[in-house]
Amino acid sequence: MQHMASELGSQMYDLARRLYPICRSITGEGVRKTLKILQESIPLEIKEVPSGTEVFDWVVPLEWNIREAWIKDEKGEKVVDFANHNLHILNYSIPYRGKLSLKALKEHIFCLPEKPDLIPYRTSYYNRNWGFCMTYEQLQTLEEGTYEVFIDATLASGCLNYGELVIPGESDEEFLLSTHICHPSLANDNLSGMVLLTHLAQAVLSRKNYYSYRFLFIPGTIGSITWLALNQGVLPRIKGGLVASLVGDPAPFHFKKSRRGNSTLDQVVQYVLEHSNFPFEILDFHPYGYDERQFCSPGIDLAVGNLTRSIFGYPEYHTSADNLDFISARDLSISYEVYLSVIQHWDCNQTYLNLSPMGEPQLGKRGLYQAIGGQSDSHEQQMAMLWILNQSDGSHTLLDVARKSGIPLFTLQKVAGILQQKKLLQRIH
Ligand code: ZN
Repeated sequence: MQHMASELGSQMYDLARRLYPICRSITGEGVRKTLKILQESIPLEIKEVPSGTEVFDWVVPLEWNIREAWIKDEKGEKVVDFANHNLHILNYSIPYRGKLSLKALKEHIFCLPEKPDLIPYRTSYYNRNWGFCMTYEQLQTLEEGTYEVFIDATLASGCLNYGELVIPGESDEEFLLSTHICHPSLANDNLSGMVLLTHLAQAVLSRKNYYSYRFLFIPGTIGSITWLALNQGVLPRIKGGLVASLVGDPAPFHFKKSRRGNSTLDQVVQYVLEHSNFPFEILDFHPYGYDERQFCSPGIDLAVGNLTRSIFGYPEYHTSADNLDFISARDLSISYEVYLSVIQHWDCNQTYLNLSPMGEPQLGKRGLYQAIGGQSDSHEQQMAMLWILNQSDGSHTLLDVARKSGIPLFTLQKVAGILQQKKLLQRIH
């Protein structure tokens, strides 16, 4: 189906198309090449952490790089070639050269009998092995005989790379946006998250922000564990965040709440989804999925959720069917719109104190009726004024007031600004 995609959606899709052919992993040249391409759009800092660095219960692994990998039959014909698809190689395969029978070769072949025309995505980061992935249909065509295998890969001391961008706001309290960058040639999981956060960072750079925003482009699991271990001093400043993944397909939104369950982050995302025009579902936290597992581990316990379209484990998940046809410019731009709305709502959700709390302040003598009179929405704005003044005892956020009053958060923000000018209100947080 052809979609009318916005200009922004097309730009996001084009970036995904450019990154799709790169063979990424949790370390190596593919990650660096990817981050350098993202640097053309945003001032990302590329960090490196040496192999062997201890990070909590883990160790940064050896760096993996691959140049060539194939299987040849007795006629010398390549039956599988990494050059044709990045998913053909078991990610983190050790180097190998040898001749094997079909039976012995099959010990190192991964396929999906239940999805016979798809190539699976398989990794072996922490268990030294070599292997190839192919369609079950192709495996059925391999004849008895001797096969020659060649894998020109290296596992050597190097580093783990990740990208980081901090956009300072008025406050040094932070909102975290994180995405995994370790998957080769898979579109929804997770080129979609990478292109979304790249464009979102551009939007945040062009806004005047109250909060500071930190963007992380990190390899899954080991990347977030590494970042957390090396940045423990930053953690108390992080007040909320989202892990961006699976944001390019047409499924309804799924918001997996943070481990805390009812943090401000959880409330803001829920509010935004309830006021968007898109179908959505809210899910309680569970300890599998993406890097929210690390951000929500009990010793860290940040208010970080995961906002996706499809959920983890959809039929195309981790197969060659999660390709550029599975995502669209239109859906990328819809996800962008919702993520940006979360940031806009998060950024104006402050807590205020009524500076004249003994009885209602006299609004007329301060010209506050005139300040907003004559506008078609002036009744709502006057109600907003009364709600804000009544609730601003220091314990209610503007979002609490929005929920109680039914008045949109952005209207409350505008009115809070007027009340601040009249010295009736002070922002305390
Ligand atoms: Zn994945």
